[in-house]
Amino acid sequence: MRISFHGAAGGVTGSCHLVECAGRRVLIDCGLFQGGQELEEDNAAPFGFDAASIDVLLLTHAHLDHCGRIPLLVKRGFRGEIIATAGTRELARLVMMDSARLQEEEADRAARHAGRHHPAALYGTMDAMRAFDRFSRVAVLGRSFEVVPGITATFGNAGHILGSAWIRLELTEGGLTRSVLFSGDLGGIGRPLLPDPTPAPASDALVIETTYGDRQHRSLSDSVTELYAAINGALRRGGNAVIPTFALDRAQEVLFYLREGEKTGALPRGVPVYLDSPMAITATEIYENHPEDFRPELKAMFNADREPLTPRGLQLVRDTKGSARLNHVTGAVILAGSGMCTGGRIRHHLRHNLAKRESAIIFVGFAAQGTLARRIVDGADEVRLFGDDVKVRAKVFTINGFSAHADQADLLGWASTAKAATTFLVHGEPKAAEAFAAHLKGTEVVIPHLHQSVDLEPLKAQTAGPA
Ligand SMILES: [Zn+2]
Ligand SMILES: [Zn+2]
Repeated sequence: MRISFHGAAGGVTGSCHLVECAGRRVLIDCGLFQGGQELEEDNAAPFGFDAASIDVLLLTHAHLDHCGRIPLLVKRGFRGEIIATAGTRELARLVMMDSARLQEEEADRAARHAGRHHPAALYGTMDAMRAFDRFSRVAVLGRSFEVVPGITATFGNAGHILGSAWIRLELTEGGLTRSVLFSGDLGGIGRPLLPDPTPAPASDALVIETTYGDRQHRSLSDSVTELYAAINGALRRGGNAVIPTFALDRAQEVLFYLREGEKTGALPRGVPVYLDSPMAITATEIYENHPEDFRPELKAMFNADREPLTPRGLQLVRDTKGSARLNHVTGAVILAGSGMCTGGRIRHHLRHNLAKRESAIIFVGFAAQGTLARRIVDGADEVRLFGDDVKVRAKVFTINGFSAHADQADLLGWASTAKAATTFLVHGEPKAAEAFAAHLKGTEVVIPHLHQSVDLEPLKAQTAGPA
């Protein structure tokens, strides 16, 4: 009975945890390492286990840092089944396909630039398609099932993105039973679309994310007010409000608030809103196909056909020609990816709006070190785009309250009901994990390093009292 940490250990990305029990091997997530050359090289490195030896992969949610190495796992010999919720299954398909396409394009580009050293594509669209074939049973929230003999799983709502789940495993070997709870990524309390995470059930060991283990978020209502003010300012000046957007969840939340703003009069009715991202368009359709996953208030709006994710002036821009036409619009809200401006259509909109004093660039998500988004957020006077130096004259807003992740207080609250004797901190920068560790009481804390393996048998069973 062992657990090994083959990703998101000592860092945020690349989630991949291996559980071994009664001769079976189950993986929780198999995500991509993201951010910077060095981390990207980790993706091509050996997993730390034989892909062909894995019986089942349980997937917490569809973000790339959780599902992005699944096609590689299949390419390297994994032939087991993949189990996820219905929402995760659909979103993961979209995310893995997009990732495969980007990698093929990048490899083609590298091959054309002779002399430039670049590794071949990690995997291709064929590998992603073979990965879909491995999805079998659908996990239903709250319903326990046998994964393999000796391992039973229960998925619970994590409130992070559509379909996201925490996973509790019950392991039995040689008459001994141990339970391990994996948080996956947890959403915050009081988000607009998804229900709050279901409380953590009591478990012997807890493996919890610590993305914001050292921080509290700004209040959501202040952030929404700030968003409306930023958009109204740009519209009044005759410019555009350009919002770099992450395709999963953030795009849908922003659409929801645009629609709400029109309803309450905080935004002008019928303001043109361009959703200029094929991936965000498809993700929004998947969201709309799963109203059962929403908060009850929102579910009721869907049932009453009120289209809560559709602002009145919404226009979906699928092709690049339509996207290019937006170079000449004014008085509009433009949502485009990528969220950190490292690629995608947003770069064209920045090219056309950054130098305009009338426009606003509104960041509603995390901007990692080294990305174009970060340079603009940090106040660069000028940035380079398509070989030109572009002056930053537009108003730049950084609105921090829209995170899809629980903050420190949310994480502590959630962890407390698990009453775990041992808590493993993953999915966080060392600084965040250490700060979080200092707040955990009544549990042994382990911050595992990459590929560390821990025997579960000697670990204590859950604590009796509150942690
Ligand atoms: Zn996530
Ligand atoms: Zn994650």
